[in-house]
Amino acid sequence: MQDNQALRQLYDDTLVWDAHAGIFPSTQVDLSLVDEWPRNGANYLSINVGFDVMPWQETLATLAAYQQWLLAHADHFVLVDRIEDIDRARAAGKFAVSFDIEGMNALNNDLNMVALYHALGVRQMLFAYNLNNAAGGGCHDRDTGLTEFGRAIVAEMNRVGMIVDCSHAAYQTTMDIMQESSAPVVFSHSNPRAVWDHERNIRDDQIRACAATGGVIGLNGMGIFLGENDIGVDTLLKHLRYVSDLVGPEHIGFGFDYSPQMELDIGDILRSRPDFWPAGQQYDTRGIKHAGPDLLPALVEKMSRTGFAEDEIRGFLGENFRRVAARAWQGQD
Ligand SMILES: [Zn+2]
Repeated sequence: MQDNQALRQLYDDTLVWDAHAGIFPSTQVDLSLVDEWPRNGANYLSINVGFDVMPWQETLATLAAYQQWLLAHADHFVLVDRIEDIDRARAAGKFAVSFDIEGMNALNNDLNMVALYHALGVRQMLFAYNLNNAAGGGCHDRDTGLTEFGRAIVAEMNRVGMIVDCSHAAYQTTMDIMQESSAPVVFSHSNPRAVWDHERNIRDDQIRACAATGGVIGLNGMGIFLGENDIGVDTLLKHLRYVSDLVGPEHIGFGFDYSPQMELDIGDILRSRPDFWPAGQQYDTRGIKHAGPDLLPALVEKMSRTGFAEDEIRGFLGENFRRVAARAWQGQD
């Protein structure tokens, strides 16, 4: 165990990677709210620009708006193309971002859209958002597995250089995806179901299969996926410890799924679409709590005090996801 000053130093010296934001994607979002990440010592964030709940055209419009905003704020933000851009951004004191999309409805049934999204800065896509779609099954729907179209998407993502993301998909669909992918696969924002039994959380099999690809499980900060709307440091550590004991510390990171606007909008959004966020899954919880990047310094202290080594902590904070991205973003061309 190290003293607090040394731990703060460790945090400040380490790449801090958040694999998924929970900002509601829209052309109306003022991205200056992302400042909360660098203010809390983070270096990289994957910003969600669309999900299966919204029409695919709105994803393109959101991408256009976010691209413009980032260009106008190039003194502080870098839209990442390759892994080296993150290191360069960090060295220059800038915050690195790329985009992710939650669900293949954004493709409008057209495989060519994968390369287009890649060209627009999308570096991570997940397959189905809670409900089934043309690519495969969602975690709150009938588990139908990965479709032929879904298989073609995995191959195309491997080719263009995007991280294949299994969060929100159904069990069999994720197992098929991990079988299919030639690059490491992630669950960017999913917690172990053995610790908290929620349909959005993932089984031991899925965690093992993800680790076998060389991938990473990003722990989610939403209180209803951690427990009874519980965002305590000890609760988050319980999830982390479980995954670490199961597959090893090199397969863990964070995808907080956090939005600075969360208190304002989350309840109304979840209640507005009971198809995507069904009853009996805590989505009707009043005042859903959410752990974000501001929790990380306290987490680092607790991780150190409970016996994790410095290099393991660096892995959790960002090096593990960096390893996956370095591989996946290379593509196959
Ligand atoms: Zn999500």
